[in-house]
Amino acid sequence: MIHIQELQFHYATGEFRLKIPELSVAEGEKVAVIGPSGSGKTTLLNLIAGIITPINGTISVGDTQVSELTDRERREFRITKIGFVFQDFELLDYLNVFDNVLHPYRITGALTLDKEVRPRAKTLVQDMGIGGKLKRHPNNLSQGEKQRAAICRALLPEPKLILADEPTGNLDPENKIRILDLLFRHTEENGTILLAVTHDHALLNRFDRVIDFKDFRF
Ligand code: ADP
Ligand code: MG
Repeated sequence: MIHIQELQFHYATGEFRLKIPELSVAEGEKVAVIGPSGSGKTTLLNLIAGIITPINGTISVGDTQVSELTDRERREFRITKIGFVFQDFELLDYLNVFDNVLHPYRITGALTLDKEVRPRAKTLVQDMGIGGKLKRHPNNLSQGEKQRAAICRALLPEPKLILADEPTGNLDPENKIRILDLLFRHTEENGTILLAVTHDHALLNRFDRVIDFKDFRF
């Protein structure tokens, strides 16, 4: 589960302030994060993932108090325990789709690229409808294909937490439903928490709960 207490954050520059007195997300919960642009949705995901650290307060994910880890521990925690689907995908242009999906396994000793991983990766990319694009590099993919590659990379290590920043933002209506179904199926199978930023209000009824950043105004 995720537990946030007395969180305060601001960037080194600018007026933006984020203050969350208390926020908990239970194991297996599917939560949509909504709110106007610039309200801090991406910042919250980055804080939970330990990409940035709070000024005050605590953030824990499962047994890990993220805010207490060293930089090195946070990186390892992020790669092994969290599947992050970035708003801008953050795929590596010099790697093809399949190598992008496998990448987390190549950058930490904590994940082992053994015999069962590649077939599982193949099934995943096929499920996502990009099975025919494995050898392509990201600069030869559509936005929707990049998005699906980024989702596969996040899901492959079977993390207990998926943080997804507008994961269906670049998909056509048909793929949107399909990809959301897959995201939900994978999270349900593994009891994974899904925290997904979305602007798509038609999708909200599929989540267990909605966190609205309007509530964090102060
Ligand atoms: P959202 O994802 O809800 O659109 P963000 O979390 O990206 O919002 O940003 C929240 C606020 O923080 C915005 O005002 C944005 O301009 C500001 N911000 C984001 N990143 C930085 C940064 N690295 N330095 C200073 N300000 C930032
Ligand atoms: Mg954002």
